[in-house]
Amino acid sequence: MREVLETAAFIGGPALSRFERAFAQYIGVDHAIGVANGTDALELALRTAGIGPGDEVILPTNTFIATAEAISAVGARPCFVDVDEQDLLLDLERAKEAVTDKTKAIVPVHLFGQMVSMGPLLAFAKAHGLLVIEDAAQAHGAEDTGGRKAGSLGDFGCFSFYPGKNLGAYGDGGAVVTPDGAHATMLRVLSNHGRAESGGHTHVGRNSRLDGLQAAILDAKLKHLDTFNRERREAAVRYDVLLEGLSDITLPHVRALPSHVFHLYVIRCERRDALRAHLGRAGIATGIHYADPLHLTPAYATLGYPKGSFPVAEKAAREIVSLPISPDITEDQQARVAESIRDFLRGAS
Ligand SMILES: *Cc1c(COP(=O)(O)O)cnc(C)c1O
Repeated sequence: MREVLETAAFIGGPALSRFERAFAQYIGVDHAIGVANGTDALELALRTAGIGPGDEVILPTNTFIATAEAISAVGARPCFVDVDEQDLLLDLERAKEAVTDKTKAIVPVHLFGQMVSMGPLLAFAKAHGLLVIEDAAQAHGAEDTGGRKAGSLGDFGCFSFYPGKNLGAYGDGGAVVTPDGAHATMLRVLSNHGRAESGGHTHVGRNSRLDGLQAAILDAKLKHLDTFNRERREAAVRYDVLLEGLSDITLPHVRALPSHVFHLYVIRCERRDALRAHLGRAGIATGIHYADPLHLTPAYATLGYPKGSFPVAEKAAREIVSLPISPDITEDQQARVAESIRDFLRGAS
């Protein structure tokens, strides 16, 4: 940070290049391009892919609204699909049914920190000529059984460095990674006012840049990401043990530990709202990710998906609750959360 201040390299500069190189290497792709936030990362990937008005893009209905906003921002239509009952990630069988002759891309969202099973998805995308744009905003460092990281398997991998994410800046930030040199060049052009390396404005672009201070912070924190993720996994395993065998609580379904970096630890409970209120009274903050499946949000009412369109996601939305988790949560704090949940179940049953 001091180097950025002393050299006044606030936008661009060596700190940004250093972080972009380190992040690309960490994820296992040739190119990383810093941008202003995760939503822009998705939007710029879509624009670089040439997706726009008249096109359709498939995404899960249970995700943060930013995934859909980026699709809307380029003028394409978000096509929601239901999620898997167990892991609440995109249900590939439902995605297959949603393909039309307008479908151009599919966006697997590695939600809660757990990777979508990419093998079958990539095969499906290839068979239909669809681009794959991974939303890895919650999954920095998650890896499949082959050791390949979230974001490195599709045509584009999109990341957010919002402070609460597994790799967080001290403000907003994001990045797109891609194995394709031409795509990388276009991402740089579009995110910097359409300015080509020659200096000429070849496209009508945007201002979406990752600044030098944030890059310096991210470069320092990246060295600790594997430790942070290990600590999150250890905390998740502790919750699993503490909450084991409670009949009214469903614990997160984890396919393989390395594929999950526990951005969130999401349990299910039919009396979710009462449970949250009980925890709240004990001074334990919880969250809901997300309260409305996107097709039922007022923002996307115009797309005309009636209630009942995606029953798995709709049911889950009534039952999910995210417990406190972070690399530095203590065993005592987790024991308190578990005790309060047991207390609720005893009192209410
Ligand atoms: C955080 C997040 C984004 C958007 O990132 P911002 O940096 O907040 O714009 C996109 N998708 C998912 C799944 C996210 O969790």
